[in-house]
Amino acid sequence: MELNQLTIKQANEGLKKKEFSSVDLTKACFEQIKKVDDKVKSFISLTENYALDKARKVDEVGNFSNPLSGIPVGIKDIYCTKGIKTTAASKILENYVPPFSATAVEKLEEQGAVMVGKNNLDEFAMGSSTENSGFFPTKNPWDLQRVPGGSSGGSAAAVASDQCFYSLGTDTGCSIRLPAAFCGVTGLKVTYGRVSRYGVMSYASSFDTMGPIARTVEDVALVMKTIAGQDLKDSTTPNIVVPDYSKGLDQEIKGLKIGLPKEYFAEGVDEEMKKVVEQAIKKLESLGAKIVEISLPLTKYAIPTYYILVKSEASTNLERYDGIRYGLSAQANSLMEKYLETRGAGFGPEVKRSIMMGTYTLSAGYYDAYYNKAAQVRTLIKQEFQKAFEQVDCMVTPSTPFTAFKIGEKVDDPLQMYLADILSCPINIAGVPALSVPCGFVKPKDGENEMPVGMQIIGKQFDEQTILRVGHQYQQATDWHKRKPGLK
Ligand code: GLN
Repeated sequence: MELNQLTIKQANEGLKKKEFSSVDLTKACFEQIKKVDDKVKSFISLTENYALDKARKVDEVGNFSNPLSGIPVGIKDIYCTKGIKTTAASKILENYVPPFSATAVEKLEEQGAVMVGKNNLDEFAMGSSTENSGFFPTKNPWDLQRVPGGSSGGSAAAVASDQCFYSLGTDTGCSIRLPAAFCGVTGLKVTYGRVSRYGVMSYASSFDTMGPIARTVEDVALVMKTIAGQDLKDSTTPNIVVPDYSKGLDQEIKGLKIGLPKEYFAEGVDEEMKKVVEQAIKKLESLGAKIVEISLPLTKYAIPTYYILVKSEASTNLERYDGIRYGLSAQANSLMEKYLETRGAGFGPEVKRSIMMGTYTLSAGYYDAYYNKAAQVRTLIKQEFQKAFEQVDCMVTPSTPFTAFKIGEKVDDPLQMYLADILSCPINIAGVPALSVPCGFVKPKDGENEMPVGMQIIGKQFDEQTILRVGHQYQQATDWHKRKPGLK
């Protein structure tokens, strides 16, 4: 196996035993990047010198007690990185260099992480395919004709094609789990507030969550230990102890009650994919889990509720890109003209759509009918999850309604694109954590290559541990997560 294909855990063991250095790992990643990223297009910018400098320093100190020390990581280009261009994949921030780093990035840096570059995404994380990037689409390493999912598509594709060991993504409605599922890697959407949002450009502040994408659940747990926790710069991060997420992963799942919400297996979910997930559920059953069917009848309201609320929040969050404070600044003769020219030229179609939709749902006369109503339904959906969790320890569903679709297939039909989030956005409405793990493959009707399928494991608020344990036990019993894409 090549160095850049190791897991974080394996690489850490090798570093400790001095079998190789952090510089070796970093060079192996850049070799791979040079070999494949022309095809995959998972990075907006690369930080080779910065990474090699960092790796050298880490090697000099030689302290690998934190498992992330010396390990190359990709960062979604929506996390501010001090002195390093951060674009949110938007032309409006094409040359923006932030004067500070996001808390999650800072925490990784402090532990000796080696950032190799900034990953592509849908502009301001709005999308499910990475086709909404203001620069270029990322390709799926399993089939270069297909999307990697979004919005953290660059992050997932980079990990899947061994260009870095893990990456940080964000998940507002699907954006870690969906690309992780489409690219055959493991991704965790954390409980809202578990990881600081400070320094990550906002999409919808009451939904945005930050989390890792990696090759194994074990690696996800290692990253979580470092990035989770209270941050005084983000008042939505409560003072709840950060557990050692790696501990307890080995505990068997015998007797654990797993709920299958029947609405997540209903019509509209690809039949072949459903079979794959059902096999995975059988596997969990054979490991001793108790499977019970449950019902979440409000699921059908999730998409409209989600999109009304996030677009409302987005429309206010994006007001700050005014051509005056930072980023693109168009030439103009008046203030109004400056706003119009800058925002007209800087934002792409989905961002403009979001601003228009959100401004509409927040406007006088429509606010009660749309925003308020959706906020009420949000509470009901939350309560429905809470109630269901009185019966079960976690839930299992497919991560997505279908496998990776072809580039161009949905991008001109926003509603079709929004529907990709049907199985993931309810979890963000409820604010609970969910993990996506690879659980098999299907061969799509319109293609030659087999595409990965993701299984979603949903947990109780702040109970990432249980879903990580289920995911890890599953990965111990299967090898789907070890398969490598053909890059064709
Ligand atoms: N596709 C969803 C949206 O555009 C979710 C994106 C995300 O999770 N950032 O809102």
